Amino acid sequence: NRKRANDYVHEVYELVKKRNPDEKEFLQATREIFDSLRPVFAKHPEFISNGILERITEPERIISFRVAWEDDQGKVHVNRGFRVQFNSDLGPYKGGLRFHPSVNTSIMKFLAFEQIFKNALTGQPIGAGKGGSDFDPKGKSDREIMRFTQSFMTELSRHIGPDIDVPAGDIGVGKREIGYLFGQYNRIKGGYEAGILTGKNPDHGGSLGRKEATGYGTVYFVDEMLKENGLTLDGKTMVVSGSGNVSTYAMEKAMQLGANVVACSDSDGYIYDKDGIDLDLVKELKEFGNKRIWEYTKERPEAEYHADCSAIWSIPCDIALPCATQNEIDEIAAHMLIANGVKAVGEGANMPCTIEAIEIFQEHNVLFAPAKAANAGGVAVSAMEMSQNSQRLSWSAEQVDEHLKEVMQNIYNDCKKAADEFGKPGNLVMGANIAGFLRVAGAMVAHGI
Ligand code: GLU
Repeated sequence: NRKRANDYVHEVYELVKKRNPDEKEFLQATREIFDSLRPVFAKHPEFISNGILERITEPERIISFRVAWEDDQGKVHVNRGFRVQFNSDLGPYKGGLRFHPSVNTSIMKFLAFEQIFKNALTGQPIGAGKGGSDFDPKGKSDREIMRFTQSFMTELSRHIGPDIDVPAGDIGVGKREIGYLFGQYNRIKGGYEAGILTGKNPDHGGSLGRKEATGYGTVYFVDEMLKENGLTLDGKTMVVSGSGNVSTYAMEKAMQLGANVVACSDSDGYIYDKDGIDLDLVKELKEFGNKRIWEYTKERPEAEYHADCSAIWSIPCDIALPCATQNEIDEIAAHMLIANGVKAVGEGANMPCTIEAIEIFQEHNVLFAPAKAANAGGVAVSAMEMSQNSQRLSWSAEQVDEHLKEVMQNIYNDCKKAADEFGKPGNLVMGANIAGFLRVAGAMVAHGI
């Protein structure tokens, strides 16, 4: 059985490589999953006979479309829009929209692929998708953002629906963009479909606790992992990359639990404030203002600013939370963190560590919380938002937080159990991949070919 399983995984991986030759990020995400799944196929030959691996690596549908919009000077621009509807065996496609110049098919596919396992891990009835555009929101006026998002939704609206596909935010798409997208969808459809998007403003149909959910959830997960190993967050020095939604609320929860967060960043550079980051100031700059992180030092001249965001990993810390973007920790950064005594790494962003970096952490017994599990809190609360929208009622912030905590604990336990059962105790990368896969693969078998 083991040989048959290994041959099968190898054969399908070759097929995926051949079919997607230039998709670096997508191949990275699939390789990590394939490496974890070998022991699963040895135990479950029905997954081989049902061609699960061939099917799960090919999106059900990829939509690519033109987004034309006019800037404030009257010049017309064209961007490319995407929606990858990857897997719907557990529920309607669910996943964010990313507006960033790096967006391409490979990045969309890796994100949607990761979403399959992440969403399955939450235990909620959601399938997986991802979308976005290579539009760069940096430096755009509010009206330009509005015109762009309206044009984007004009096409997207024909492909989504509360029981079909429910987008949300990701990098470059926050409450404001969701608001404009929501308005445009309802305008086109001529109704009010609250459940069409998540991440809406809690004052107009959104869920309390959604904006905090990814960051809080990451810290809840890391806290579980630390406790299991006889450690706590209290008094630990922490470095958190990014300064968006995930990073800000990861910092907030970590501080509440006693950690000393000394650094955060944006795509231009990082700030190091050794006495502890002033979170209100970061929020004022990044959440409420349209500012860059270097401006932090205007208010706090005792903090340092360095115009190289990747150098943030040279700061000594006990715990590192990469919460910015994919592949932000490579082997060099991993070695730097280890040399400075890092004890735990928790992925708040999607795939922020390269495969090599993860291997280095594992070789050096650094506790490692993989993104699919650790950052699932965001989409978990999105699914709660869908429930509230269907019921036409709102839960309290306490109710949401309680549910979130429970979901994160369950995910942790499921990952741990799967790692134990499949022979790699403590390996949460493998545990997350296997636990998520088993749930979706079971549904794929049940639903037929
Ligand atoms: N973009 C987030 C993620 O990577 C959230 C998706 C959602 O809420 O649907 O999971």
